[in-house]
Amino acid sequence: MVRFMPKFDPESSQNHPYWWDFDLDNQPLELELLARPIEEIPAQSDCVVVGAGYSGLSAALTLARAGRSVVVLDSSKPGYGCSGRNGGLIGPSFHKLGMAGLKAHLGEAKTVAVMRESMDILMGLKQFIAQEGIECGLIEAGRFRGAVTVQQYDELARQAEGIGKLVDLEYEMRPQSAQREHIGSDYYKGGVVYHQDAHLHPGLYLKGLANRALEAGVQIFAPARAERVEAGGDGYRVTLGETSINCGEVLIATNGYTGEAFPYLRRRVIPIRSAIITTEPLSADLMHELSPQRQGFSDSSRLMPYYRPSPDGTRMIFGGRALNLADRPENYARDLHRLMTRIFPQLRTTAISHAWSGTVAYTFDHAPHIGRITEGPMSGVCYAIVVRA
Ligand SMILES: Cc1cc2nc3c(=O)[nH]c(=O)nc-3n(C[C@H](O)[C@H](O)[C@H](O)COP(=O)(O)OP(=O)(O)OC[C@H]3O[C@@H](n4cnc5c(N)ncnc54)[C@H](O)[C@@H]3O)c2cc1C
Repeated sequence: MVRFMPKFDPESSQNHPYWWDFDLDNQPLELELLARPIEEIPAQSDCVVVGAGYSGLSAALTLARAGRSVVVLDSSKPGYGCSGRNGGLIGPSFHKLGMAGLKAHLGEAKTVAVMRESMDILMGLKQFIAQEGIECGLIEAGRFRGAVTVQQYDELARQAEGIGKLVDLEYEMRPQSAQREHIGSDYYKGGVVYHQDAHLHPGLYLKGLANRALEAGVQIFAPARAERVEAGGDGYRVTLGETSINCGEVLIATNGYTGEAFPYLRRRVIPIRSAIITTEPLSADLMHELSPQRQGFSDSSRLMPYYRPSPDGTRMIFGGRALNLADRPENYARDLHRLMTRIFPQLRTTAISHAWSGTVAYTFDHAPHIGRITEGPMSGVCYAIVVRA
């Protein structure tokens, strides 16, 4: 295992998600095994989905269960993008603009609908995991969001109260005097607990989703980079080097990894790098001190860090925005380690086993988008762009 903290050694940096090395039994997660080689791609299918992350695979599963033949392509491997790299924290995403910003943009009724949908997604995800029996280390312990300043504590309280009037949000304000019941830190000036939030093992969730899709008849191919999509025959032709496949419908689900092959979407997606570090295993006592209730964490700062215990409860997994778009652990690992030890001084001498990053998608209006391309040779092709607020 590579150690590059607290003495940082860029030569030995390991840009590799913890999730790919450790499942719930501490075994490696071999996501590439879910896919077949490009040579076996059929000539025809009802639907082609480009991108084997959460978006592409859930769409593929829905389509297959509705009776369509579905091919999913990924240029690298299923879960290579954000879906195999994220922090695994799940909760409603109440939009970057906040309620006031949303109301100014969308009006009252649509703002309420957005808030409700955001909450429904969280509940729907938990229900889906239970119904499908996906073993992904789901821990429904809630999330503590710390206030960095006293003013932000008041703001978090106002925000939660406002949202609570619109949707069924179970929350509790915790003053600084009660904070240690949630987090082993004196860094915050109190915070809010969102009781319905949870965390899971993102790689295992991806694997479970892919397995359900395969069982429903979806065919996944990787490495298989879609280089061109154009209208042809009764639908579209998707070209991958020497190979091509004809289909009735195409969905582009490449999110923050959208490349020049899809110029209409590339112009509308801003890739932002987010990064995570993982500590070495810590003692049970120290882990209990850091997260006495195994809750997830974030805070009120603009570049909101997000962190949580590992699924086996032995490590701290700490993420945040990487300020540089280049994918270099030396650019973000030291910053994350510094921030982590500001919150948890107990971890100052703790070594880091993993550091990795991925590109999330941002859009100009901060909102997720689904729809169809309306111009050029890809006119009519569907897309889904997820935004993490
Ligand atoms: C470090 C990090 C931490 C995060 N933490 C959280 C969190 O805690 N909670 C949360 O809710 N969200 C989090 N997110 C965001 C979340 O992971 C993403 O919003 C989500 O996974 C996006 O899923 P997706 O399927 O749309 O895209 P992705 O999972 O990014 O998948 C896109 C796929 O498209 C493939 N692709 C690209 N171009 C082509 C092509 N031409 N042909 C074929 N395939 C192609 C890529 O290989 C990739 O696998 C985090 C993201 C990152 C990077």
